[in-house]
Amino acid sequence: MANLLILSLILSLLITTYPPWTNALPTDITNRIRTDPNAIREASSDYGNLVHHVPSAVLYPSSINDIVELIKASCYNHSTPFTVAARGRGHSVRGQAMAGGGVVVEMAALSRNGGGIRVSWSPSLGYYADVGGEEIWADVLRVGLEHGLAPVSWTDYLYLTVGGTLSNAGISGQTFRHGPQISNVLELDVVTGRGQLITCSRNKNSELFFGALGGLGQLGIITRARIVLDKAPARARWARLIYSNFSEFTRDQEHLISTNALNYVEGFLITNKSTTNQWRSSFSSPSHQSDIASLWKKHRLLFSIELVKYYNNLTANTIDKEFHVILEELNFIPGLIFRRDVPLVDFLNRVGNSGDGREEVQAHVHPWLNLFIPKSRIHDFYDGVLENMVPRLRTTPGLFIFYPLNIKKWDSRMSAVTPDEDVFYNVGFLHSGGVNESDVFEVFNSQVLGFCEKAGIKVKQYLPYHKSREEWIKHFGSKWSIFQQRKMKFDPKMILSPGQRIFN
Ligand code: FAD
Repeated sequence: MANLLILSLILSLLITTYPPWTNALPTDITNRIRTDPNAIREASSDYGNLVHHVPSAVLYPSSINDIVELIKASCYNHSTPFTVAARGRGHSVRGQAMAGGGVVVEMAALSRNGGGIRVSWSPSLGYYADVGGEEIWADVLRVGLEHGLAPVSWTDYLYLTVGGTLSNAGISGQTFRHGPQISNVLELDVVTGRGQLITCSRNKNSELFFGALGGLGQLGIITRARIVLDKAPARARWARLIYSNFSEFTRDQEHLISTNALNYVEGFLITNKSTTNQWRSSFSSPSHQSDIASLWKKHRLLFSIELVKYYNNLTANTIDKEFHVILEELNFIPGLIFRRDVPLVDFLNRVGNSGDGREEVQAHVHPWLNLFIPKSRIHDFYDGVLENMVPRLRTTPGLFIFYPLNIKKWDSRMSAVTPDEDVFYNVGFLHSGGVNESDVFEVFNSQVLGFCEKAGIKVKQYLPYHKSREEWIKHFGSKWSIFQQRKMKFDPKMILSPGQRIFN
């Protein structure tokens, strides 16, 4: 409550005056800068609802040139540069898209609900889409399908921006096969921290291209991405399988990602009754609830592999057999398999748009912890964290994601960081709790990280959050010096994405 009062006080002090640097901007851009409480409140909040950094102003750009002028005003015309953060849709959980005392660029203002998405074909590139960095993946899907096409690599949730996920990596159950979303980009337009709009690709201005992909917004604001498209399959044959044995669960997952038989492989932990119910109600038949509940009582921790094979009219008559052959090789608990068969859109959009519900977001905290864990230590992680710590987490957990990825589908020249092993697991503790419950999860998260540190498990955080320069240097490992050099080259005044707290 006290925090809210302080925030309102700061907001009311800010509403009346424009920051002095706005004098350096062309008048038509000044008109698109807001300092009113609504704009400031939105720009100082995100999905995590854990930190609130108050900017001095918010830019609602009407063109890419507005962003260029804003950054130039900071970089060249102003004695003390102000920081600038692109805000996709604010799905970060720890203020990564905020700019305390600086300017937040609300990328949504550029969005024309998919109007910024253009589908093309060329003999050398095949099918691709040129997409504004502000657009959301749900619109890329919709526009692609109008041409019978779709991207190959996704996130679970489609209401994230293209610029936002490409600044991280963009992962889901297709990543084992096609790589993260950053591996499926042909070209970018980026406004650097020097206020230059640069087109880059693997062959042209490649340093910026590789640096910006997975670059946590540090080198520039992505205003266009050229994304690989392929012929869209019509339907998804979809199944969830239940395991009680961790070794069998991981062995089957690793087997599935070693072949290209499937299009999607993920996995989840089933940690207690509430999760079982949540899981069940969204997918399987009611008759199996008691089976799963009694199993859970016995084991306290169950595992689920989720898998999908796409098909279309041409392969409709063989899908049953192909799916059957894949399942036959797996060691899930007999009978505990739940199937669906849905149009591609229903599968890709399975999470819906729940993450954008403002009231739900403001009433909850989301202290998520996402880790990449080397395969060679996954059983140690199981012993220390899944068996020991997870069952003791008393508060109702959110969703716990658990699936392996192939490093060969990642490009090590990009800024995204992974463990140095052929296969590593993505483990997401997607906690959700009331606003007063964050401590429980923060303690859990730091115990998990502490355990890994002590046991020498070389985990990397995905969607990273680190508190000190030393932790960031450790995070980037051998990539640190090149990342730092790129920062000096493209954002020497350290203007961009201060909310990541790497250089600021
Ligand atoms: P923001 O949170 O607004 O921004 C994220 C960072 O990128 C900030 O540092 C910001 O300054 C910078 N940024 C934003 N736009 C640009 C741009 N155009 N150019 C350069 N930098 C920019 N991630 C996955 O990989 N897979 C998932 O399945 C997945 N599911 C999710 C589900 C939910 C419900 C939520 C809340 C998040 C999920 N995420 C997932 C995480 C998501 O990828 C990140 O939150 C990411 O930040 C994208 O969110 P956003 O577009 O709102 O970007």
